[in-house]
Amino acid sequence: MGTDFKALAELCEKLEASSKRTLMANSVATFLKRLTADEVGAATSMILGRALPKWEDRTLEVSWATLSSVIKRLTNANRKDLADAFSRTGDIGAATKLVFEASRIRRQTMLVESPLTVLEVRRTFEDIAETTGYGSRERKERLLEALLGRATPVEVKCMVKIMISEMRTGFHEGLMELSVSKAFNIPHEVVRKAGMLVGDVAEVAAIAKVNGRGGVSKLHFRIFRPIKLMLAQRAQNVNEALKEHSGKSAFEHKLDGARIQIHKSGDEVRIYSRRLTDVTESLPEIKQQVQEEVEARKIILEGEVIAVGEDDCPLPFQHLMRRFRRIRHVKKMVARIPVKLYLFDLIYLNDQSMTDNPYVKRRKKLEKIAGGIPLTKQLITEKRLEAEEFLKEAIGEGHEGLMAKRLDGAYTPGVRGKHWLKVKEVLEPLDLVIVAAEYGYGRRHNWLSDYYLAARDAESGEFVIVGKTFKGLTDKEIIRMTERLKALAVNEERGKVTVNPCVVVEVAYNEIQKSSKYKGGMALRFARIIKIRDDKSAEEADTIQGVEGIYEEQFKRKAKPISLSNHVS
Ligand code: AMP
Repeated sequence: MGTDFKALAELCEKLEASSKRTLMANSVATFLKRLTADEVGAATSMILGRALPKWEDRTLEVSWATLSSVIKRLTNANRKDLADAFSRTGDIGAATKLVFEASRIRRQTMLVESPLTVLEVRRTFEDIAETTGYGSRERKERLLEALLGRATPVEVKCMVKIMISEMRTGFHEGLMELSVSKAFNIPHEVVRKAGMLVGDVAEVAAIAKVNGRGGVSKLHFRIFRPIKLMLAQRAQNVNEALKEHSGKSAFEHKLDGARIQIHKSGDEVRIYSRRLTDVTESLPEIKQQVQEEVEARKIILEGEVIAVGEDDCPLPFQHLMRRFRRIRHVKKMVARIPVKLYLFDLIYLNDQSMTDNPYVKRRKKLEKIAGGIPLTKQLITEKRLEAEEFLKEAIGEGHEGLMAKRLDGAYTPGVRGKHWLKVKEVLEPLDLVIVAAEYGYGRRHNWLSDYYLAARDAESGEFVIVGKTFKGLTDKEIIRMTERLKALAVNEERGKVTVNPCVVVEVAYNEIQKSSKYKGGMALRFARIIKIRDDKSAEEADTIQGVEGIYEEQFKRKAKPISLSNHVS
């Protein structure tokens, strides 16, 4: 018979309503316990909001347009009904539930349907993912119609949230590890470690159910299965990093590129991005370099790739991103935007995990194995002044700053701890003017929370947009800002409210990029509001000429951007 999907959907409702971590973990543990062996993996993924196994290449490819047309057909609701439900709930899943509850035709047909099981839902998700090519949208719609047609409102809500990847119950992988540990009576640490090694708690749960602690303890890294990355916290300056690392750190240049994880087994090499997607095809020259240079049978390495101009000088980050997005014309782009790899860590070597080794030991091994591939430049010191000099050198060479690494620190996948601390150059914030705003999503759907930021043109007096951000303000500040901006509104079109330029905000950012998005041709990267400057008037805001100056200043250190002709960009 199998477990009813309704039980899983009701569990997710319970998780959404609770914020008590232990209670949540206990409820999930109780649920996992009652599942059969072939249900555990699927249910674990779905509770975490995944329709398919984590490492599955296939995806559902179901857009909201497809989903909403099925929902409308099944419930007789129209666009306005859905929009109203959404503005009442701020959540697509909850809105769909409302619409299903209100539908009379549904209540009549529901009585004759047999309940859905967890495995039936998973199988339908697989069928939807397999439906590709010509006419696939219609076939997907038919599968969806058959699935949602048999579901109760609470089940529909759960499925919709899974399908649009917005489960948002607050129940994450870490808590799931705790539940698996409780459900199958395996120490939390053993489950956590296995989760880190295979990168998917659903797989660990399935093995826990069938093989218990013995099976889970035997799990290992797998080549060509990317591992969660070790992350860094921020330190204000090198001194803070030294203190945190008991007086001595290994400082490395922090390159402003893209992190990659490289897996090699024999001659086969695959490269994964920071988000753990396979980017091997975009980086053919890195693949070849690793094949030629790295001396190891089986290995997992980490490093940063940067785009380089003349003399190996780093190019702005946005050029590199063009390489990563590229699927066609890869060859042309390889010639136009050369990239360079710097290695900085060693995670796995010839069937042995390196993660428990201290940093210095991993780095030494890495040096031996890397062949002609450079490592990130490093300085081990206990002296603040030396470290500060090293920071200046890194920035002078066009890099982002330093990474301070604890000498005896293990490699901790998925953990943002203090073993790694980033020390960056701080750019002076800019005072910019809010010239327009958009309504947010979810909880923020009634608030103007996404702000267009502009600098003043000292010559014409106009305001020129240089960025957009929804970051930095508290809920209270956003509510107040919404009222203020509504009072200043001069136009509203498709959710975008244009306002009289009066409100000045202090904005931090990481870099100024060239951008065709805004008329001024520049955009701030990672803009975030740090303060509302009611003490300043719009006339006192920073000027677009000033922003241009900072942009130019960047290239005293970085190589000038190269122009990319349209047909390959
Ligand atoms: P952030 O993205 O600002 O949190 O900084 C962490 C990122 O810096 C890492 O994910 C890497 O992509 C990058 N990075 C650059 N240089 C290094 C380095 N030497 N060691 C570790 N990470 C580095």
